[in-house]
Amino acid sequence: MYDIIIVGAGPAGLTSALYARRASKKVLVLEAKSYGGQILNANKVENYPGIELIRGVDFAKNLYNQVIKHGAEIKFETVLHVDEDKVVTTNKDKYQAKAIIIATGAQNRKLNIENENEFLGKGISYCATCDGNFYKNKIVMVNGGGNTALEDALYLSEIAKKVYLIHRRDSFRGENAYLEELKKKPNVELILNSKIISVNGKENLESVTLCDKEENETEIIIDGLFIAIGQEPKNEIFNNIVDLDEKGYILSDDGVHTKTEGIYVAGDTREKLLRQLTTAVSDGSIAATVAIKEMK
Ligand code: NAP
Repeated sequence: MYDIIIVGAGPAGLTSALYARRASKKVLVLEAKSYGGQILNANKVENYPGIELIRGVDFAKNLYNQVIKHGAEIKFETVLHVDEDKVVTTNKDKYQAKAIIIATGAQNRKLNIENENEFLGKGISYCATCDGNFYKNKIVMVNGGGNTALEDALYLSEIAKKVYLIHRRDSFRGENAYLEELKKKPNVELILNSKIISVNGKENLESVTLCDKEENETEIIIDGLFIAIGQEPKNEIFNNIVDLDEKGYILSDDGVHTKTEGIYVAGDTREKLLRQLTTAVSDGSIAATVAIKEMK
C-alpha cells in the first residue's frame, strides 16, 4: 500500500513526489517512457524564476535526482487503468494507494496527413533538440506558431543551411522576443497563412506541399520537417474517474481535485490557463499538499 501513486514523471509529477516525500509519505511514481516529460525537448529554459538559463534535459535530470535522493520510488511501467478505489493496473502489476495524482502531461499533436507516420525518423521529427543535429547544413522546415516552433526554428538556424518557418495564420502565438530574434537570422524564411497539405518522398521525406489562403499550392524541397503544433492530452484511460473538457483535458478546481475523492490532477493534462514549467511545478506542489491534507 502506497500513500500516493503519481502517474507521470514530468515536472508536475516529480514535484508532487518531492513534496510527498518531504512529508514522509510512501510514494510511487509510474512512468511509461522516460522521466522529464516535455521539458526534455526545451533547448533553453529562460523563464523559470531563479534560474537564468538551463537546458531542459538538465532541469529534468536535477529534479529526478532530487526526487530519488528524497526516497521516491519510480517504476517505468504503463498505466492501463485506475479505479475509484485507487487500485492502479499497469502492464506489469497492480498497486494500491490512498491517493492518486494524475500528471500525464500531453503528447505532440500530429498534422494527421497521409504518410506523416511513415516518414517519422525519415525526415519528420517532433523534437528539434533531439534530432536537429542530423540536419547540419541541410534544409529544414518548422511548422507551428507557438513558442516551441519559434524556439525550434532559432535552434535549427544555428545548425541547418536554411530554415523555413511555416504557420497557418499571419500572427504568432509565441513570444515576440523569439520572433524578433528569428527575423534577424539570414537563413530563416517565414511562410505565413499556409498549411502543409502533403509530405512527399520515396524512402525519406523529400518535399512538402503547402497551400495558402488563396488555395495556391507550392512544393518546397526540404530534408527535414519539424512539427511543433502543440500538444494534446491522452486521458481516455481516466474516463471512469475524471471529467474531461471538450479538448480532453481533465477538469479540476483550484485545489486540483477531480470529481473522484482522493484523485488529483497536476500539470499540462489539466484544463487551465497557462501550460508552462512554472505552472506544472505549481500544480505538482498543490496536488501533493492537498492530497496529504485530505488523506484518510
Ligand atoms: P502552442 O502554444 O499550443 O502552439 C501551437 C501552434 O501550432 C499554434 O501556433 C497553432 O496555431 C499551431 N497549430 C495547432 N494545430 C495546428 C494544425 N493542425 N496545423 C497547423 N498549425 C497548428 O504549442 P507549443 O508552442 O508547443 O507550446 C505549448 C506551451 O508550452 C505553451 O504554453 C508555450 O508557451 C509553452 N512553451 C514555453 C516555452 C518557453 O517559454 N521557453 C517554450 C516552449 C513552449 P494557432 O496559433 O493558429 O492556433
